[in-house]
Amino acid sequence: MIELENLGKSFGETRALSGVSLTMAEGSFTSLLGPSGCGKSTTLRLIAGLDRPTTGRIRIAGRDVTGLTAAERNIAMVFQSYALYPHMTVRQNINLPLAMRNMTRVERLPVLDRLLPSARRKMADHAARVREVARLLEIDALLERKPAELSGGQKQRVAVGRALVRDPIAFLFDEPLSNLDAKLRIQMRGEIVDLHRRTGRTFVYVTHDQAEAMSMSDRIAVFMAGEIRQVATPRELFERPASREVAAFVGDRPINLIDVAATGAALPPPFDGFAIAGPALPPRVTLGIRPETLDLVPEGPLAGRVGLIEYLGSEAMVTFHLSGAGAEDVTLRAALDAGHGLPAEGDAVSLALDAAAAHLFDADTGRRLDARLVARDGAAAAGSGLRSLP
Ligand code: ATP
Repeated sequence: MIELENLGKSFGETRALSGVSLTMAEGSFTSLLGPSGCGKSTTLRLIAGLDRPTTGRIRIAGRDVTGLTAAERNIAMVFQSYALYPHMTVRQNINLPLAMRNMTRVERLPVLDRLLPSARRKMADHAARVREVARLLEIDALLERKPAELSGGQKQRVAVGRALVRDPIAFLFDEPLSNLDAKLRIQMRGEIVDLHRRTGRTFVYVTHDQAEAMSMSDRIAVFMAGEIRQVATPRELFERPASREVAAFVGDRPINLIDVAATGAALPPPFDGFAIAGPALPPRVTLGIRPETLDLVPEGPLAGRVGLIEYLGSEAMVTFHLSGAGAEDVTLRAALDAGHGLPAEGDAVSLALDAAAAHLFDADTGRRLDARLVARDGAAAAGSGLRSLP
């Protein structure tokens, strides 16, 4: 288990982190997710011991390691470049940390390593350990190759193998896939999840790519401006984002965020077919409507005109300009199934929205409200017998 308690880090005047507390369970896969400069890498470097926090404590497996060096923490950091030695074989690369840790300088000398009984015994142990790790990671057929003869995924495995022989408590990854092309990146996500299963170790994974974090992790810590804004499972993060900022960051298609003035439970046009159910509301509410919760229906509660259509293959992102008194500038983007036929630009249409899937935020603070959007009497609710227009 890795526990971060109230971590803060400043670089001179720059406050990179403040009040970061997070517990990562043994064997879990946690992603640190957030936009550039939000403090994810700094947090990872503090866990690794490459940097010291300005405030706060770090515990690993129950031991306070805040004052310990990287070498004393028994944590493996897997870098993007893999950092394999090009002139050594895979076997030698994986063996290296064992030789460095367990053998004296004399025992490591070329001829003596074969003559000294102590060196021979250790080398046999190491060879067995390298074979065991190679079998676990299914790279045993690659042991005599050099790094230049490996694919990116194989290099990653060797890098993990080299760390694994030392039996680390946890593996830390800092954006390991950011230099790869889109297709390979998706393939490598599966590789890393597989490595996590095989090794059973605690993985901490830094990324700014929400799809990567959502598809790989057990839990995600969302960082923004040096603070953790939410810690949740991928599903919770998507279904119950704690704030407008988190909702905007998570999800493949950007969420529609619309500020409205709420008078009691009632909403102004074009949302007057809906109401808000819940305790006392702030004067301004942000509606968070995911594009995939909107659909065309013959007589829906939202009326509008079709704007830009972005065709994406199986679906299309369609912009709607909603009409209704005082509603001229409300636009919504909907993800429509392209297989059912698409409207044309300029068409007058009506839309339904799945009210239960909408998110409500306080427009001033951005915080999630403990309230629900409901369809008012007579307003067609989406989700029940939805049909697209032909
Ligand atoms: P990215 O995805 O771009 O790597 P990040 O979320 O990992 O971003 P960090 O690298 O943790 O962000 O940086 C957090 C903040 O701390 C940034 O404002 C950055 O400029 C600052 N920072 C990081 N390292 C240093 C340093 N060694 N000296 C000064 N400022 C730093």
